[in-house]
Amino acid sequence: MTLAHVIGYPRIGADRELKRATEAYWQGGLDRQALEATGRELRLANWAAQREAGLDLVTVGDFAFYDQVLDVSVLLGAVPARFGAEEEVARGEVSLDTAFRMARGRAPSGEPAAACEMTKYFDTNYHYLVPELHAGQTFRLASRRLFDQVDEARDAGYPVKVALTGPLTWLWLGKGRGEAREDFDRLSLLDGVLDVYAEVLERLAGQGVEWVQLDEPALVQDLPLAWRQAFERAYHRLQAAPVKLLLASPFGGLGDNLSLAVGLPVDGLHIDVVRAPAQLEAVLDRLLPHKVLSVGAIDGRNVWRADLALWRERLATARMRLGERLWIATNCSLLHVPVDLAAETTLDDELRSWLAFARQKLDETATLARLLDGRAGAADRDRVEAASRALQSRREAPRLQRPEVAERLAGVTADDTRRRSPFAERAVAQQRHLALPLFPTTTIGSFPQTAEIRADRRAFKAGELSREAYEARMREEIARVVARQEALGIDMPVHGEPERNDMVEYFGEQLDGYAFTRFGWVQSYGTRCVKPPILFGDVVRPAAMTVRWSEYAQSLTDRPMKGMLTGPVTLLQWSFVRDDQPRETTCRQIALALRDEVVDLEAAGIRAIQIDEPALREGLPLRRAEWQGYLDWAVACFRLAASGVRDETQIHTHMCYSEFNDIIASIAALDADVITIETSRSAMELLDAFQDFAYPNAIGPGVYDIHSPNIPEVAWMVALMEKAAERIPVERLWVNPDCGLKTRGWAEVEPALANMVEAARELRRRHG
Ligand code: GLN
Ligand code: ZN
Repeated sequence: MTLAHVIGYPRIGADRELKRATEAYWQGGLDRQALEATGRELRLANWAAQREAGLDLVTVGDFAFYDQVLDVSVLLGAVPARFGAEEEVARGEVSLDTAFRMARGRAPSGEPAAACEMTKYFDTNYHYLVPELHAGQTFRLASRRLFDQVDEARDAGYPVKVALTGPLTWLWLGKGRGEAREDFDRLSLLDGVLDVYAEVLERLAGQGVEWVQLDEPALVQDLPLAWRQAFERAYHRLQAAPVKLLLASPFGGLGDNLSLAVGLPVDGLHIDVVRAPAQLEAVLDRLLPHKVLSVGAIDGRNVWRADLALWRERLATARMRLGERLWIATNCSLLHVPVDLAAETTLDDELRSWLAFARQKLDETATLARLLDGRAGAADRDRVEAASRALQSRREAPRLQRPEVAERLAGVTADDTRRRSPFAERAVAQQRHLALPLFPTTTIGSFPQTAEIRADRRAFKAGELSREAYEARMREEIARVVARQEALGIDMPVHGEPERNDMVEYFGEQLDGYAFTRFGWVQSYGTRCVKPPILFGDVVRPAAMTVRWSEYAQSLTDRPMKGMLTGPVTLLQWSFVRDDQPRETTCRQIALALRDEVVDLEAAGIRAIQIDEPALREGLPLRRAEWQGYLDWAVACFRLAASGVRDETQIHTHMCYSEFNDIIASIAALDADVITIETSRSAMELLDAFQDFAYPNAIGPGVYDIHSPNIPEVAWMVALMEKAAERIPVERLWVNPDCGLKTRGWAEVEPALANMVEAARELRRRHG
């Protein structure tokens, strides 16, 4: 019998119950017992769903109140000293509040302390808490949580498989505090970590657990030799554990780590054949005859319904060769997709029929396993047929194919991705057109989204406020924001984006080819969930999207109003994207739609247009060898969007991350006239990028961190710009905050910008 399981399941609940309970607990509205009870209910419901779907094992260990990587840190007793938890660690029971303090700096009990760093998990939009490591660190089993959950599942009568981040990936994700990853030999800690893992496995065996899945996505990245050797060492050591180990490699192909992974002394290997279908055969050829192969065929990273008939065919050989040693699974944890499609009552039936969320993917996984065994029941056969019909309808749906889009894309030439003249000439034309002072000041786009703005939008969406009334309110807000910027003396004002709920949703709602769910929440970090739109069809812009707002804002001032758009790569990256054509093609379609918007803005008299690309860097593939291929098309898409304008129209872009250095050449290749960037780390670090690389165009290194409520001082900002001036000619420097201001209040924004303008004046006095 082919065994069916999933790598993990979303823990937030179909209605984000976990978020509500956790936040209520933080705010004192719920006690710890009640929070724990919510956690238990969610786990039991998730296991029940897995069994109901017909999975053979339920996954235990994928639940976390905040983050599963944090929970492993806690399990290993890796709690940084500043949280004062020595006694809890020694007792073997780190409290929930200590974990919350590590995650967010504070909790209902315990002293506040600086939270651990958080960053994106592999190439997902999920954020984990970075394990904090230091030389000589010791580890000890410091939590009972996992074992309690195993008991919980066994008491409820479920067949348990435990899932846990593997020791190498946990170390791989960790770093020395205040140090760069490279500077610290994390592997020096491996033996200590393995001692605890061995103890954990021993305990699990004692609880009657047969299989433990160790997630090692580090295996789909480029690994230095020492790390490959460490894999060997670690798994030889863990081989002695009295449980069976399933080594899981989600998020891509094993590539040059394939021999390593196949050769490790474990009882089973899990591979991702959605992202890397070709590796199936290579693994089949090399798998030792006693090992289980878990094939991840159901996509945990996207929302499309699986082609079950096709997978049955594709996996028939594997079934024949492996017999009962074949397992069927999702390629990765379902954490990355929304919980249940059943809740989406407002999507039209056709579109709905194309989709599968986590709950539906459980059914797909179980059905596929039964299909391969030839033990499919009537319900399975119906499911396969329904899937085939849905896929057929998706392939043929007229609303997916807009022939005019393909035609237009086919006609795109290299000239369309090039501005008419090189930057040096454009800069002259722009200076004539814009008449800006030295060190011009601007902001990144949004101004505070006040309670009134949000209340107006809610009322509008609920039908309590007419469109006319809503838009009139937004215009009033724009007028206020423009007047404030004039009073402050901002050289290039913005309209403030009050009309935008979200920088992706706002554009998606106005473009054909996008759909929106009501409850399609996915955990981004902790209790924060996002609801990515679904990009299902060819992208068409039926009408201008932002022009009337920018035009109105420009009518209120003589200063050059900056238009504000979200870039093609970001619109792609922050959506669930169709899988029936290359992402590159979809991105180019978006770029063409944006290009029209850019040209329309110019025609409406907007002299500067910012195209935000905060997601450009996070789209980087996990393997270095694939970086350039991605960067080439991503840059081309940006340029396609940006290059329809005359020389004198100034194109800006904005990015929010400071790991700038390794892709600086591609950022330069965007050929934006001005780039404004985040510098939330130190100013020096950002500027390091310019040491070896002469950035050719203008740049606004954010002079203050908008994530902090502190008012930046004039002298501090001047000093920062002086540092920038050592690397970049002053004629090419702009003065601006490091990101949008929508999360701040006016009480902070006004004095901060006043100081920023003062700093620019001081710089002009010095350099003018
Ligand atoms: N223009 C956007 C804003 O100011 C940019 C947001 C972002 O950088 N993520 O809000
Ligand atoms: Zn930003």
